Amino acid sequence: MKEPEKKFSKPFSKNQLKSPFFIIILVAIVLATFQIYSVGPITKNVSYSEFKMLLKEGRVETCQITSSLIRGNLKDQDSFDAQKGFVTARVEDPDLVKELETQGVKFSGEYESPWIQTLLFTWIIPIAIFFLIWRFVLKGMGPAGGVMSFGKSKGKLYAQDDLKYTFEDVAGIDEAKEELSEVVEFLKTPHKFTSLGGKIPKGVLLVGVPGTGKTLLAKAVAGEAGVPFFGISGSEFVEMFVGVGAARVRDMFSQADQKAPCIIFIDELDALGKTRGINPMGGHDEREQTLNQLLVEMDGFDSNKGVIIMSATNRPEILDPALMRAGRFDRQVVVDRPDLNGREAILVIHTKGVKIDKDVDMRGIAAMTPGFVGADLANIVNEAALLAARREKKTVGMADFEEAIERIMAGLEKKKRLINKREKKIVAYHECGHALIATFLPTADEVKKISIIPRGVAALGYTLQLPTEDRYLMTRSELVDKISVLLGGRAAEGLIFGEVSTGAQNDLEKATEIAKKMVKFYGMSEKLGLVTFEQENRSVFFPGNTGKNEYSEETSREIDLEVKKIIDETYVATKELLEKKRDVLIKIAEILIQKEVIEKKELQEILEKEDKEYVRKDEEKLD
Ligand code: ADP
Ligand code: MG
Ligand code: ZN
Repeated sequence: MKEPEKKFSKPFSKNQLKSPFFIIILVAIVLATFQIYSVGPITKNVSYSEFKMLLKEGRVETCQITSSLIRGNLKDQDSFDAQKGFVTARVEDPDLVKELETQGVKFSGEYESPWIQTLLFTWIIPIAIFFLIWRFVLKGMGPAGGVMSFGKSKGKLYAQDDLKYTFEDVAGIDEAKEELSEVVEFLKTPHKFTSLGGKIPKGVLLVGVPGTGKTLLAKAVAGEAGVPFFGISGSEFVEMFVGVGAARVRDMFSQADQKAPCIIFIDELDALGKTRGINPMGGHDEREQTLNQLLVEMDGFDSNKGVIIMSATNRPEILDPALMRAGRFDRQVVVDRPDLNGREAILVIHTKGVKIDKDVDMRGIAAMTPGFVGADLANIVNEAALLAARREKKTVGMADFEEAIERIMAGLEKKKRLINKREKKIVAYHECGHALIATFLPTADEVKKISIIPRGVAALGYTLQLPTEDRYLMTRSELVDKISVLLGGRAAEGLIFGEVSTGAQNDLEKATEIAKKMVKFYGMSEKLGLVTFEQENRSVFFPGNTGKNEYSEETSREIDLEVKKIIDETYVATKELLEKKRDVLIKIAEILIQKEVIEKKELQEILEKEDKEYVRKDEEKLD
């Protein structure tokens, strides 16, 4: 029987004693007791009629009247159960005062609220309410303690387990992946590189249109390397309070310093890194101050510790040039729209967890979606699954995918331009025109890539030429070849379709520019001879202002005529060359329509097979 006794002897545990609920109850009990005893000596409850009787009998000595009670003392103790005090509920009785007066009773009213109540209502309760509100507000401001930590970085530190992304989750942007695999190596084994005296790159800027997987790629780099990842968006730095953004940058870098090796990822860098202009209002604005702080921190920290700053933007052209300087974001990785194979691979990734019919043809879906980026494709898979669920099917079928594509295209068409089949064909021939001319003209730069995946706002397709060596001098025939390559696109359109499209406008502009320079600067026109008509240095401050012409109206007209002559002659020659290569042109264009991208190696192989005259340019250089 000892044990239960022990239990009873300790009715409350320590924690219970500390809990606020317990304290409140204790205080309440104390107050109640206090109030009971403060009433005074022992009293007896009487009814109002009894009280009146006692009053009439003249036995009441004193009484106090409150709003609800009448308390009092009797004259003689013996007659009333040895109790002097009494109390009764007050009843509405206008004659009471008169009666008390006639009986000669000492009476008084009473101010109802005792001091303890006053204290409670005017001080304790309001203070308690304020205290609760204060606590609540602080909690809402963040776990670290609200107001005092405005400057702390909002950059979330992801634990390694949170970053489940690896390069396997990213498809269709193989070039970017390849470039970043080097960064992964740096992060994994920094000593390998630094022991040889090499410097680890500090900043990597990912450039590409929205939805191509830049954010995903940055996370995948952290996941591959197994390092912590600080992700923050550029806009998060720009707050309403001056100085907060800069403080955040500072804080983020010091946090990263402790966690090295790690990755700092600043998404949407353009929100922060816009070109610093001359502020018309004078002074620095908040964004500029934050940007400056970022530049300072990037310069200040030692990249060999293994902190790599990654960043993403879809508008590299508006970024402050200071960001791109050596030692800052000096590596830029282009994240392109995926080609046909890439789109197929992305679809495969996103359909992994989805139950799919056997008849679904991923390549077919990829072929239907030129110009789509990874995010669009992920969206298609999701939409198709939802459609199938709505139709109460057990698996997602081709019809669901087709409808999903239609829906998403309808949404996208407003946002970006997707090219239709006929346009695609025209663009393909146009680009092949450029590529073939570049291939067969001896001095033109080699073709590295032909693509009809739309890029940016202006270009529907592009042909990438890479100069094989640095050039400082150019001969007349080299310039003419350049013009010829530019005209190749339009010439191919004319040759195949019998009409030209608006797609060549940019080419024509560039061709005209070159021809003009030939005539005006380099004295390369037979008719006008060895005269330079314009100084090349223009005002730095007003690039549009070329000063007044130093030649007559007539000369001006002749310049125009000469320019036109160069263009026209080159165009005819270009068209002739393409006419000769018509079969190869068609062959390559058809492959391009199928594959959307042709790389240098593949182009060389096709040409070797199809054209006997073709010689590889790199081989030519050898002898
Ligand atoms: P960005 O940062 O370039 O705007 P995100 O990385 O935010 O694009 O991409 C959004 C989503 O789209 C990703 O979470 C992923 O599901 C999907 N996605 C985009 N690109 C790819 C890709 N190359 N491979 C696989 N999924 C992709
Ligand atoms: Mg993003
Ligand atoms: Zn073109």
